[in-house]
Amino acid sequence: MNIILLGAPGAGKGTQAEVISDRLGIPTISTGNIIREALKTGTEMGLKAKSYMEAGQLVPDEVVIGIIKERLAKDDCQNGFILDGFPRTIPQAEALDKMGIAIDKVIDIEVTDEAIVKRMSGRRVCEKCGASYHMEYKLPQKDGVCDKCAGTLVQRKDDHPDTVKARLEVYHKETEPLKDYYEKQNKLSVVEGQDTVEHTTALILETVEA
Ligand code: AMP
Repeated sequence: MNIILLGAPGAGKGTQAEVISDRLGIPTISTGNIIREALKTGTEMGLKAKSYMEAGQLVPDEVVIGIIKERLAKDDCQNGFILDGFPRTIPQAEALDKMGIAIDKVIDIEVTDEAIVKRMSGRRVCEKCGASYHMEYKLPQKDGVCDKCAGTLVQRKDDHPDTVKARLEVYHKETEPLKDYYEKQNKLSVVEGQDTVEHTTALILETVEA
Protein backbone atom coordinates (compact mmCIF):
# COMPACT_ATOMS: atom_id res chain seq x y z
CA MET A 1 0.00 0.00 0.00
CA ASN A 2 1.26 3.48 -0.89
CA ILE A 3 0.35 6.00 1.81
CA ILE A 4 0.85 9.74 2.23
CA LEU A 5 0.71 11.30 5.70
CA LEU A 6 -0.37 14.93 5.65
CA GLY A 7 -0.52 17.37 8.54
CA ALA A 8 1.17 20.39 10.03
CA PRO A 9 4.71 20.09 11.36
CA GLY A 10 4.37 18.52 14.80
CA ALA A 11 1.02 16.86 14.07
CA GLY A 12 2.60 13.47 14.80
CA LYS A 13 3.31 12.24 11.27
CA GLY A 14 6.70 10.74 12.21
CA THR A 15 5.34 8.81 15.19
CA GLN A 16 2.34 7.47 13.26
CA ALA A 17 4.51 6.60 10.25
CA GLU A 18 6.59 4.33 12.50
CA VAL A 19 3.43 2.55 13.71
CA ILE A 20 2.11 1.94 10.18
CA SER A 21 5.55 0.92 9.03
CA ASP A 22 5.75 -1.78 11.75
CA ARG A 23 2.19 -2.95 11.10
CA LEU A 24 2.44 -3.23 7.31
CA GLY A 25 6.16 -3.95 6.97
CA ILE A 26 6.74 -1.11 4.52
CA PRO A 27 9.34 1.66 4.80
CA THR A 28 8.75 5.24 5.88
CA ILE A 29 10.26 7.84 3.63
CA SER A 30 10.78 11.16 5.36
CA THR A 31 12.20 13.89 3.14
CA GLY A 32 13.04 15.84 6.32
CA ASN A 33 15.20 12.94 7.60
CA ILE A 34 16.88 12.49 4.21
CA ILE A 35 17.73 16.21 4.08
CA ARG A 36 19.00 16.24 7.68
CA GLU A 37 21.20 13.24 6.87
CA ALA A 38 22.60 15.05 3.79
CA LEU A 39 23.24 18.09 5.95
CA LYS A 40 25.15 16.01 8.49
CA THR A 41 27.34 14.37 5.87
CA GLY A 42 27.84 17.71 4.10
CA THR A 43 26.70 16.71 0.60
CA GLU A 44 25.96 19.38 -2.01
CA MET A 45 22.22 18.83 -1.60
CA GLY A 46 22.57 19.22 2.17
CA LEU A 47 24.37 22.53 1.77
CA LYS A 48 21.71 23.78 -0.64
CA ALA A 49 18.92 22.86 1.79
CA LYS A 50 20.52 24.18 4.99
CA SER A 51 19.44 27.85 4.95
CA TYR A 52 15.85 27.04 3.94
CA MET A 53 15.48 24.41 6.58
CA GLU A 54 16.92 26.44 9.42
CA ALA A 55 14.60 29.35 8.58
CA GLY A 56 11.57 27.07 8.58
CA GLN A 57 11.07 27.52 4.83
CA LEU A 58 10.51 24.83 2.24
CA VAL A 59 13.45 23.50 0.27
CA PRO A 60 12.86 24.17 -3.48
CA ASP A 61 10.54 21.69 -5.20
CA GLU A 62 13.12 20.45 -7.72
CA VAL A 63 15.49 19.42 -4.91
CA VAL A 64 12.92 17.38 -2.94
CA ILE A 65 11.33 15.92 -6.08
CA GLY A 66 14.80 14.65 -7.07
CA ILE A 67 15.26 13.11 -3.62
CA ILE A 68 11.91 11.32 -3.76
CA LYS A 69 12.42 10.02 -7.30
CA GLU A 70 15.70 8.44 -6.30
CA ARG A 71 14.35 6.99 -3.05
CA LEU A 72 11.14 5.49 -4.50
CA ALA A 73 13.18 3.68 -7.16
CA LYS A 74 14.82 1.52 -4.46
CA ASP A 75 13.81 -2.13 -4.03
CA ASP A 76 12.33 -1.78 -0.54
CA CYS A 77 9.53 0.41 -1.94
CA GLN A 78 8.22 -2.34 -4.24
CA ASN A 79 5.52 -3.48 -1.80
CA GLY A 80 4.52 -0.04 -0.65
CA PHE A 81 5.75 2.92 1.36
CA ILE A 82 4.67 5.71 3.68
CA LEU A 83 5.53 9.26 2.72
CA ASP A 84 6.10 11.50 5.74
CA GLY A 85 6.62 15.14 4.78
CA PHE A 86 6.19 14.76 1.03
CA PRO A 87 4.42 16.18 -0.91
CA ARG A 88 4.27 19.60 0.74
CA THR A 89 3.23 21.68 -2.29
CA ILE A 90 0.88 21.20 -5.26
CA PRO A 91 3.80 20.95 -7.75
CA GLN A 92 5.30 18.15 -5.60
CA ALA A 93 1.99 16.25 -5.66
CA GLU A 94 1.76 16.76 -9.42
CA ALA A 95 5.31 15.46 -9.81
CA LEU A 96 4.33 12.30 -7.92
CA ASP A 97 1.34 11.80 -10.25
CA LYS A 98 3.58 12.36 -13.28
CA MET A 99 6.00 9.69 -12.02
CA GLY A 100 3.08 7.27 -12.41
CA ILE A 101 3.07 6.39 -8.73
CA ALA A 102 -0.38 5.31 -7.56
CA ILE A 103 -1.23 6.57 -4.11
CA ASP A 104 -3.80 4.45 -2.25
CA LYS A 105 -4.49 6.57 0.83
CA VAL A 106 -3.78 10.06 2.03
CA ILE A 107 -4.23 10.48 5.77
CA ASP A 108 -4.40 14.00 7.15
CA ILE A 109 -3.71 14.35 10.88
CA GLU A 110 -5.54 17.43 12.20
CA VAL A 111 -4.14 19.39 15.14
CA THR A 112 -4.72 23.07 16.03
CA ASP A 113 -1.84 25.56 15.68
CA GLU A 114 -1.97 26.28 19.39
CA ALA A 115 -1.45 22.63 20.31
CA ILE A 116 1.33 22.34 17.73
CA VAL A 117 3.35 25.20 19.24
CA LYS A 118 2.98 23.62 22.68
CA ARG A 119 3.97 20.19 21.45
CA MET A 120 7.01 21.24 19.47
CA SER A 121 8.83 22.57 22.50
CA GLY A 122 8.85 19.07 24.00
CA ARG A 123 9.87 17.24 20.87
CA ARG A 124 13.23 15.45 20.71
CA VAL A 125 14.72 13.42 17.89
CA CYS A 126 17.52 10.89 17.75
CA GLU A 127 20.48 12.49 16.00
CA LYS A 128 21.55 9.06 14.76
CA CYS A 129 18.41 7.32 13.40
CA GLY A 130 15.81 10.13 13.37
CA ALA A 131 13.28 8.39 15.68
CA SER A 132 11.06 10.90 17.46
CA TYR A 133 10.22 11.26 21.15
CA HIS A 134 8.40 13.73 23.36
CA MET A 135 9.25 14.89 26.87
CA GLU A 136 5.58 14.59 27.86
CA TYR A 137 3.85 12.15 25.51
CA LYS A 138 6.50 9.70 24.37
CA LEU A 139 9.38 9.40 26.78
CA PRO A 140 12.39 7.25 25.94
CA GLN A 141 13.20 4.46 28.42
CA LYS A 142 16.42 6.23 29.38
CA ASP A 143 16.54 10.03 29.57
CA GLY A 144 18.13 11.54 26.46
CA VAL A 145 18.89 8.19 24.81
CA CYS A 146 17.17 6.60 21.80
CA ASP A 147 15.40 3.28 22.56
CA LYS A 148 16.14 1.99 19.09
CA CYS A 149 19.82 2.73 18.50
CA ALA A 150 21.12 4.33 21.74
CA GLY A 151 21.81 7.58 19.84
CA THR A 152 21.59 10.95 21.59
CA LEU A 153 18.22 12.76 21.64
CA VAL A 154 18.34 16.42 20.65
CA GLN A 155 15.96 19.31 19.96
CA ARG A 156 15.90 20.26 16.29
CA LYS A 157 16.88 23.87 15.55
CA ASP A 158 13.68 24.26 13.56
CA ASP A 159 11.57 23.20 16.55
CA HIS A 160 12.33 26.49 18.34
CA PRO A 161 9.14 28.61 18.80
CA ASP A 162 9.87 31.37 16.22
CA THR A 163 10.77 28.85 13.56
CA VAL A 164 7.69 26.79 14.41
CA LYS A 165 5.50 29.84 13.73
CA ALA A 166 7.19 30.35 10.35
CA ARG A 167 6.71 26.65 9.54
CA LEU A 168 3.02 26.84 10.40
CA GLU A 169 2.57 29.83 8.09
CA VAL A 170 4.25 27.92 5.28
CA TYR A 171 2.08 24.90 6.06
CA HIS A 172 -1.19 26.81 5.78
CA LYS A 173 -0.15 28.55 2.57
CA GLU A 174 1.65 25.79 0.66
CA THR A 175 0.68 22.41 2.11
CA GLU A 176 -2.92 22.72 3.27
CA PRO A 177 -4.23 23.05 -0.34
CA LEU A 178 -3.15 19.41 -0.79
CA LYS A 179 -6.18 18.35 1.25
CA ASP A 180 -8.42 19.61 -1.57
CA TYR A 181 -6.14 18.10 -4.18
CA TYR A 182 -6.48 14.60 -2.70
CA GLU A 183 -10.12 15.05 -1.69
CA LYS A 184 -10.86 15.53 -5.38
CA GLN A 185 -9.07 12.25 -6.08
CA ASN A 186 -11.21 10.56 -3.36
CA LYS A 187 -8.13 9.54 -1.43
CA LEU A 188 -8.30 11.76 1.64
CA SER A 189 -9.11 10.54 5.15
CA VAL A 190 -9.03 13.07 7.98
CA VAL A 191 -7.96 11.83 11.39
CA GLU A 192 -8.30 13.78 14.64
CA GLY A 193 -4.81 14.16 16.09
CA GLN A 194 -5.57 16.33 19.07
CA ASP A 195 -6.03 13.60 21.68
CA THR A 196 -3.41 11.16 23.02
CA VAL A 197 -0.88 9.43 20.76
CA GLU A 198 -2.65 6.10 21.42
CA HIS A 199 -6.00 7.54 20.36
CA THR A 200 -4.55 8.93 17.12
CA THR A 201 -2.78 5.62 16.46
CA ALA A 202 -6.03 3.69 16.84
CA LEU A 203 -7.77 6.01 14.34
CA ILE A 204 -4.86 5.78 11.93
CA LEU A 205 -4.78 1.96 11.99
CA GLU A 206 -8.53 1.87 11.49
CA THR A 207 -8.11 4.04 8.40
CA VAL A 208 -5.18 2.03 7.04
CA GLU A 209 -6.98 -1.28 7.52
CA ALA A 210 -10.39 -0.12 6.26
P1 AMP B 1 10.22 17.70 8.52
O1 AMP B 1 11.19 16.89 9.29
O2 AMP B 1 9.37 16.86 7.63
O3 AMP B 1 9.41 18.65 9.36
O4 AMP B 1 11.09 18.62 7.52
C1 AMP B 1 12.02 19.57 8.01
C2 AMP B 1 12.34 20.60 6.96
O5 AMP B 1 12.88 19.97 5.80
C3 AMP B 1 11.18 21.41 6.43
O6 AMP B 1 10.84 22.49 7.28
C4 AMP B 1 11.71 21.87 5.08
O7 AMP B 1 12.66 22.91 5.22
C5 AMP B 1 12.46 20.62 4.61
N1 AMP B 1 11.56 19.70 3.86
C6 AMP B 1 11.21 18.42 4.20
N2 AMP B 1 10.36 17.89 3.31
C7 AMP B 1 10.15 18.85 2.37
C8 AMP B 1 9.35 18.94 1.20
N3 AMP B 1 8.58 17.92 0.80
N4 AMP B 1 9.39 20.09 0.50
C9 AMP B 1 10.14 21.14 0.86
N5 AMP B 1 10.91 21.14 1.97
C10 AMP B 1 10.92 20.01 2.72
